[in-house]
Amino acid sequence: MAITGDQRLLKRINRMALVRLVRSQPGLSRAELSSLTGLTKSTVSLLVQELIDDGWLCEDSILVTGAIGRRPTPLRLDGQRLVLIGAELGIGSMCVVRMSLDGCILGQEYAEFSVQTDADSVLGMLADLLGRQVELVGTENRHLLGIGIGVPGSVREDVGILVVAPNLGWRNVPVKLTLETALLKRGLVDIPLFVQNDCDVAALGEVEFANSAVGDPLLYLGLGVGVGAGVVVGGRLLLGATGFAGEVGHIQLQADGPRCSCGRSGCAEAYFGLRSMAQSIHCDVEELQTKVKAGDSAAIEVLRAGGKHLGMLMHNLWVTLDPGAIVLGGQTCSLGNYFVDSARSTFNELAHAANLEVPPVTESRFGSQAVATGAAALVLHELLLPI
Ligand SMILES: [Zn+2]
Repeated sequence: MAITGDQRLLKRINRMALVRLVRSQPGLSRAELSSLTGLTKSTVSLLVQELIDDGWLCEDSILVTGAIGRRPTPLRLDGQRLVLIGAELGIGSMCVVRMSLDGCILGQEYAEFSVQTDADSVLGMLADLLGRQVELVGTENRHLLGIGIGVPGSVREDVGILVVAPNLGWRNVPVKLTLETALLKRGLVDIPLFVQNDCDVAALGEVEFANSAVGDPLLYLGLGVGVGAGVVVGGRLLLGATGFAGEVGHIQLQADGPRCSCGRSGCAEAYFGLRSMAQSIHCDVEELQTKVKAGDSAAIEVLRAGGKHLGMLMHNLWVTLDPGAIVLGGQTCSLGNYFVDSARSTFNELAHAANLEVPPVTESRFGSQAVATGAAALVLHELLLPI
């Protein structure tokens, strides 16, 4: 009998449901998977064998009970054979990571560029970095599942077009097509490639590579030159009607506040975007970092004041979304604790004034690599959620 399209889709859904279950509960046996999914034992056995053959799952060594017979074989994700590649296209820098299914970084490469460089040249550089990492996957005898790219702007996900990236000055850049064409020239074909907003992928990274259950909805705040958010609700990204959801750097915190790069006034980014904070004491981002490290009191005060405004933004988003967890990430978080501590105390004060308990606030477990690793998680997310 011919296998119809519907059957193939059903099989894919079942396969990925098994992977998700084993990932969230390592050690499950085939029999347990059968009772959790409602699939028959023979179907589960067949699919698990395929997933083992394809590199998704592996068997843990069999535990002998000492009694009659043996315990069912526990299954877990195989971190050895399949690889995900993720890239952060940042504002003046790019980072590419090679990751295992279970969230370990296997290798990485970093490069810088001037923000005045045209989009084609920057994407050419990124394609070179990606190409080298793809070739390394081959030499390691592993199999590449796909490439994810996190970009600093809003994205039309279906076609991989970066619609607007204000801090790069880019509009309507066909990121997916340009990178695929460049990879094709290196003889690298048929590699699934996904493009999404940087904060959205960082939010996915917190969910897809989590070691334990994560808060739902999960709100990720990306704090650097740009400020943005990614929200995962029920395992899916909240993208909005046109992909603009999460542009929280442009929430107005004050009507007559400082001028923002977007043209409006009083935006969150104008208060605590890294460049805005540096400009407020007449220096650039690098100088601000140096001053903070040297304990310069004016620089530290700027971070504290910026953190206070971040606390206000967190409060506004909390009452809007009621997140189960808030994760902070990005370059500004690495500037000592002045910024984050100030944000936390403002956030707590506002909540306590209303006699309410705040959700947990943590910093991204991948630190400065939250976007690159999140872009790798985007590949996993797309493959594990086939519909
Ligand atoms: Zn703005």
